Formats: sequence, structure tokens, C-alpha cells
Amino acid sequence: TRPIHIVGGGLAGSEAAWQAAQAGVPVILHEMRPVRGTEAHKTQGLAELVCSNSFRSDDAESNAVGLLHAEMRMAGSLIMAAGDAHQVPAGGALAVDRDGFSQAVTEKLEAHPLIIIVREEVAGLPPEDWDQAIIATGPLTAPSLAQAIADATGADALAFFDAIAPIVHFDSIDMDTCWFQSRYDKVGPGGTGKDYINCPMDRDQYAAFIQALLDGPKTEFKEWEGTPYFDGCLPIEVMAERGPETLRYGPLKPMGLTNAHNPQVKAYAVVQLRQDNALGTLYNMVGFQTKLKHAEQVRVFRTIPGLENAEFARLGGLHRNTYINSPTLLDGSLQLKSRPGLRFAGQITGCEGYVESASIGLLAGRFAAAERLGRALTPPPLTTAFGALLNHITGGHIVSDDEPGKRSFQPMNVNFGLFPPVEVPKEEGKRLRGKEKTAARKKALTARALADCRQWLDGQS
Ligand code: FAD
Repeated sequence: TRPIHIVGGGLAGSEAAWQAAQAGVPVILHEMRPVRGTEAHKTQGLAELVCSNSFRSDDAESNAVGLLHAEMRMAGSLIMAAGDAHQVPAGGALAVDRDGFSQAVTEKLEAHPLIIIVREEVAGLPPEDWDQAIIATGPLTAPSLAQAIADATGADALAFFDAIAPIVHFDSIDMDTCWFQSRYDKVGPGGTGKDYINCPMDRDQYAAFIQALLDGPKTEFKEWEGTPYFDGCLPIEVMAERGPETLRYGPLKPMGLTNAHNPQVKAYAVVQLRQDNALGTLYNMVGFQTKLKHAEQVRVFRTIPGLENAEFARLGGLHRNTYINSPTLLDGSLQLKSRPGLRFAGQITGCEGYVESASIGLLAGRFAAAERLGRALTPPPLTTAFGALLNHITGGHIVSDDEPGKRSFQPMNVNFGLFPPVEVPKEEGKRLRGKEKTAARKKALTARALADCRQWLDGQS
């Protein structure tokens, strides 16, 4: 059997190599370290954790990443096996001894009879005769390859810089204060004229908000993150620094909007949220990319009328991150539409986090192996954490109709907002309130996910 070439031996590439080899397909894994380093990696180990040593919550019943852990263990994940074997105490989280973990992954891959590891930089797109290849080069992809990807996919399809606006769970937004409306009721392709959620601010609320943006503590950029701002994605506090009215003439302009609850009163400024996933469970805050510290974001953004109880699926941020516009470029099996046989995996596809990156590597490895072996490619059901995350990356995105060229696709950790909602049984639903009801819903959702994942995996072998 001809080998699958995998570029990048990080979290995703290591897992992809393992999965393909375990399926019986030979793998050649190309890792550039130690020949060439990145701004964040310090060792030559495979699956090096560049920052925190935590895989986050291990609770599969009430936490989305905990659920992803469980699904990965079910699928024979090398990353999870090595993580479990090198666990350090961290309460409900799974934290690992980073050196022991990376060493275990490296040794397992080196010892696998079907895996060859080559220490070299792949300085352009994989050559055509690598008919099955996976690019898993991560957020700090070497510039030569990043340039080649940009050339092959179109410059605006590759981001080098991640300007992230916070994303809010729809069911935590107070719709007695907010209302649905597109500016000037504009109906774009696929739109309804009611595509945005609007939060009204009066003059005092706006002034206090601007002050809070200016005063709030910000995270500092690391040296290697010194890329200049793109004009289209200035942090909101940088815009506020340009003058107190700047935001009111920018993303917070009140024009073309009428408060459905109070049509007589004209808002002084309006914060808009745009639907972020096809399910309509998540909304992103338009123009709110920010370097404010996370706790401060929660505090300041909850002062916005209607967002007092907002729950955030992710908070805003700004850092160097190479990722492609997967929803338009990749098919449902992570394959580049313009070059079948070439897949992407890991953070470069627009997921975020160690575990998420590894899980997309797991899927890419399985998809590539199935194709090599002439087996059917069945994607994981949308109800599983695998499927929900894959769907975030390859489909289900809203393309903004009033800001041409602007993508709503943003890198994200796995979270329950990506799953189709599940209702708790009627009797139980009637009985439960508040937090208990949320817990019951999560339990139903995770139980459904694990059952569907089991069935999907059983159908694979
Ligand atoms: P990586 O693990 O980065 O693997 C990519 C590999 O490809 C690297 O080994 C690299 O050397 C290699 N490579 C790159 N280009 C080439 C090339 N041309 N040829 C050959 N090899 C190449 N996530 C968390 O969950 N927690 C955190 O605390 C966290 N902190 C982060 C801190 C920083 C500074 C960054 C940049 C990211 C952080 N992330 C964190 C996000 C992300 O989860 C990790 O970056 C994760 O390692 C991504 O996995 P990956 O496999 O996609 O990429």
C-alpha cells in the first residue's frame, strides 16, 4: 500500500499518523523540528504542548471538551492514551506532564512498524505524487508552506492573524431587551431582513462602556506576535482610543435600526450580534475583537443592555494564527476541494485547542486511511463532539451579506453551542428549573453523543 504523507508532527499530525497506521496504512510523517523551529516550540518532541499543560475538563457528562476526550478514547486516540498515562493532579481537569507526554507520543510513533518519521521542512505544497497527504502544520506553520497555501487557495482564504470577537450562547441573550433586525431591514442572499440581534445603548451607557474599554486591563502581545493590525480587524479598544465617537460611527452605529420594544426612543448606539452557526445557537459580537483580559471582557460586555446574563462560548482575542477558510475550501472529509487527496488537520483548519486539534487529526487520519483502503468514508454524526466540531470547520456557516468578503468563520474550541439542541424528557423538563435543567440537558446531550459515537465507530471497522 502506498503511504500517506503527513506534514507536521504536532497534536494533529501525530494523532493522524497513529490512526492511519493503526488502520494498516503506511505513513511518512514529516516534522521540521529540530531542523527548523517555531516561535513557540522549545523541543524536538512530537506533540509538544507549547503553552499550558492542560487538556481542560475531563468531565464527559457536562463539559464539551470532556465529551471529546471520551469520544477520542473510544476511537483509540494516541494523544489521549499518552495524556492519561502522564496525568498530573489538576482537579476535574486532565493536565499532563508535558515532557513525559510528548516523549510517550514520540516513542509510540517511532516504534510503529508502519510509520517513518522524517525530520525536514516541507517548504511548499506536498508534491503531486503524494497522492494522499495531510497538512497539519498548526498555527505557526512555516512561512514557505503558508505562502504556498495562500497561493493555492487565494490570499484572503488564509489568515495569519486571528482577530476574535466573543461568541455568545443565544439562549443567554435577553430578547425582551434586544430585537432581531438587519440594518435598514436589508435582505441579502439567504437573509430575512432580521439577521442581527441588536442591543440598544443610551448616551450614559455608551459613555460608561467606552470608558470601561479604555480602562480595562489588556493582555500584552508576545514578541513574536508583533504582526501589524489589519485595518479590518482593529481591536475594539484600539478603535475607542481614537476618540469617544469612533465606535458610534463604526460597528456600534445606531442608524437604520428601530427598537422593536420601544420604537419611539432612538438608541444612542447599538451593539449587533450576528448568527454564527446554522443551528442559530451561537451569535458573535460584531466588531468586538479585543485584547481585553478574559475576566474583564465578561464584566464589561455584561454591561451591554440585553447581555447582562450572557454566557460566552468563546471570548475575544488577537494572536498569530495561521488558518484557512475551511468552510469554503474543504469538503466534509477535510479534503481540499481543488485538490482531492490533500487534507488539512489541526488548528490550521480553524479549530482551537490541543484536544480539538488532535481530534481533527484523528478524523483526517481515519478519512485518508479509509480512502487508501477503498472503504466508505462515513463522517461522524453531528450529534457527536467529533461531528459537531467537524461541522463547525467544514460547513454550517453564515456568510455575512452586508459585509462582502467578511467571513463569519472563526476558530473555536468545542462547545455545546455547536451541537443540535436536545430536549430533556417532558416530565423531567417540567419538574426541573434553572441550573438543574441545564445540567439535565447537558447530560441528555452527552449521553446521545456517546451512544452515537459508539455506533459510528462500530460501523467503521
Ligand atoms: P502544532 O501542535 O503546532 O503542530 C504543528 C507541527 O508542524 C509543529 O510540530 C511544527 O514544527 C510543524 N511544522 C510547521 N510547519 C512545517 C513545515 N512546513 N514542514 C514540516 N513541519 C512543519 N491550545 C490549548 O489547548 N492550550 C494552550 O494553552 C494553548 N496555547 C497556545 C499557545 C500558543 C503560543 C499557540 C500558538 C497556540 C496555543 N494553543 C493552545 C492552540 C493550539 O491548540 C496548539 O497550537 C496546538 O498545538 C495545535 O495543534 P496542531 O497539531 O494543529 O499544531
